[in-house]
This record gives sequence, C-alpha cells and structure tokens, in this order.
Amino acid sequence: MPKLDAQSPALVSEEPRSEDRLRGLSTWVEIDASAYRGNLAFFRRLVGDAVELSAVVKANAYGHGIREIAELAVAAGADSFCVHSLEEALDVRAAGHGLPILVLGHIPLARLDEAIAADLRIALFNRASLERLDALTATGTNRAKVHLKLETGTHRHGIAEDELDTFLTILKAAPGVDLEGVYTHFANIEDTTDHGYARAQRARFETLVDRIRSAGLAPEVRHAACSAAALVVPETRFDMVRLGIGQFGFWPSKETLLSYRAAAGDDRAALEPVLTWKTRIAQLKTVPAGAFVGYGLTYRTTRTTRLAILPVGYSDGYDRQLSNQAHVLVAGRRAPVRGRVCMNLTLVDVSDIPEVALEDEVVLLGSQGSERVSAEQLAAWSGTIHYEIVARIRSTIPRLVV
Ligand SMILES: *Cc1c(COP(=O)(O)O)cnc(C)c1O
Repeated sequence: MPKLDAQSPALVSEEPRSEDRLRGLSTWVEIDASAYRGNLAFFRRLVGDAVELSAVVKANAYGHGIREIAELAVAAGADSFCVHSLEEALDVRAAGHGLPILVLGHIPLARLDEAIAADLRIALFNRASLERLDALTATGTNRAKVHLKLETGTHRHGIAEDELDTFLTILKAAPGVDLEGVYTHFANIEDTTDHGYARAQRARFETLVDRIRSAGLAPEVRHAACSAAALVVPETRFDMVRLGIGQFGFWPSKETLLSYRAAAGDDRAALEPVLTWKTRIAQLKTVPAGAFVGYGLTYRTTRTTRLAILPVGYSDGYDRQLSNQAHVLVAGRRAPVRGRVCMNLTLVDVSDIPEVALEDEVVLLGSQGSERVSAEQLAAWSGTIHYEIVARIRSTIPRLVV
C-alpha cells in the first residue's frame, strides 16, 4: 500500500484506480483526466495557436492538486504556468516541469535569489523588488525575468501610472533584469454582462504599454485575460491568457455563460467539470422520531430516521454553512445533511435509501448516477462562489487522476 499523504502526491496520481486502494481511503478527490484535456482543447481552439495558454495552478490548482494538474496541463498542451507564491513555483519545478512559471504574488525580497535560480517569471509591482533584482544580477552571472504588473483600475497589485517612469528608468539601467512581459488584471468581468469597465481597463493598459515602448523597452508578452475575459472579450487575449477556473470545467459565472451564449451561441460540450469529491459512510444508525441530531440540537427527527455518518467536516473544506442545507449523493440519490457540519464529521439522512451499507461511496461534489451536486450549488448554499468551494478542499486529501 503506497503512502497516501501530501508528501507523495505524484505517487498517488501514478497509481491506477483500483477498488482495493480506494477501500483504504475515507475521503478523496478524483480528477477526470479526459475532461481536463477536453477543457484545455476547447480553450486552445478559442484562443488559437499564437496565444500562450498559461495554466493558473495557484491554491493547489484550485483544490484539484497542483502536481496532478501540472502534469495534465503539460500533456494537454499548456504553454506555461502561473502561480501565486514562490513555494508553489518551486513545487512545480521540483515535479520536473521546465515550462515558464509566472509568480503573480509578492516574493519576499530575501528569496528573490531563489526565484532567479529557478528561472521564474517574476511579477513586478514593488520598486524594492526591482532594486533587489538589479543588485542580484549586477555581476552578470545570472538574469532575472520580470513581468510588470500595471494598475488599470482593480487597485490590487500593480504599478500606478505616476510610478511607471521610475520603474522604467531603473529597468533601463538594470542590465541583468529582462522585461519579458507586461500585464494587468480585470476587476469586473465575471460579475456582469456589461464589460464597459473591462474595456476601459484594457484601453488604459494599451496606453501604458505604448508608454513603455516609447521608453525604448519591448516586453514581448502582453497579457490581461483571466478565463472569463478570454471567453467573452476576445480583444483582451493579447499574447497570453491566464487560464484559471475554466481549465477545471467551470464557467466563471452565470453572467460569463450568458455573455458567451449571446456572442458565440452554443456552449454545450464546451466545458466539463474535472473534480469529484468522495467519501465513505463511517457508521449507520437508526434514531427514533423526536431525536436531536448534532451540536446545538439544530435538527430534530420527525420520524424514525436512518443516519449515515460521514468522515468529512469543515476542516476538510466541507463548509459549516452547509449544515441543514446541502445534500450528498448515495446510491445515486440525494441524502440531506442533518444538523451541523462538524470539524471532521457530517450527518446525512438515508432513511429513504434502504440499500446503503457501511463504507458505501458518497459523493459530496460531483455526479453519481443521474444526480449531480455542482460546486455552484454548494457555493449557493454556502453563500460564496464555486472558486472558494474547490480551492478550500483540504490539500492533504489524496487526489487521484482517473
Ligand atoms: C487567479 C488569477 C487568474 C485566473 O483567474 P480565473 O478567473 O480563475 O481564470 C488570472 N490572473 C490573475 C492575476 C489571477 O490572480
């Protein structure tokens, strides 16, 4: 039996799915390799061969497993990666991938040497980072690749217009720092079918890029689009798209789907969710009518009730907001969550599914038979977005590529 822990994710993914192995797991995530390939092929057709397709694998690849997805992305023809942190970038490198990796977040000044050594693309929005990179490369033995992050209206990371000249002046005098790319990020693509704000950001971006070029610098890779922008505002694709949620088969939002349908028509078979989250029944019990269920006595049975106890709780990413709201799938049918979701346990009502047995497979997120619990549905129950639902699935739960 291979060790199934966070230190050996590659080992996990190389193992074929066998009933024997699965029987040893109490909760796990299955990644559908063919759905993933289909999604990437869809985006490749959408943006064409000339545009760099960069797989955003931050947050453990949105909960899908960074190493598992990195491997699938390379095989499916992704051109590069984006991550948030230095640690994530080094993890992808340690898994043996040589493709370009852009670190979108701040790299501590004290570790910029590691980013250079790993040949990472470094997002630049702090002057101190640029000065440190200049110092580290001044001897000429190594070079730093940077992508300037431009402020165009999101007011997250980014260089404001009035700071730009300072950056350009330092860059021009820093022979070891290569300005490879320039980029921005949209504030209002997913939440609306009106892309006026995004178009204004795009126009500001172009103006700033023109200023950089007139200063004599020539960044080759201009990029702005996340999944939603790549899908519905084609003129944001530039030289590269940063593909996050879409690669996992999710529409970024209902508004994005509506915009896509309005412009492109048929969305059927475009995207297919990749992730299924499963667990197994850890105990079955029958309680009488009038019994209280779980902490806080928030549920009380109205009849003799058969409960299945599931070994998954909010510490695994099964949100406490799902208490008394969600359902799971057992034997292809819906079993409602009763009482509060606990730290490691959740109770579901299987009174009307008499055939269930100890250790039966339960689907928390995904399909079983003709039923489906979507990430969007879990998000609606939890008062959040599907991005958060998948990103918070505990990273040490095994990911199995099937
Ligand atoms: C997370 C992220 C993306 C990917 O966004 P999706 O909506 O998931 O495609 C792209 N760019 C930046 C800067 C990000 O932080």
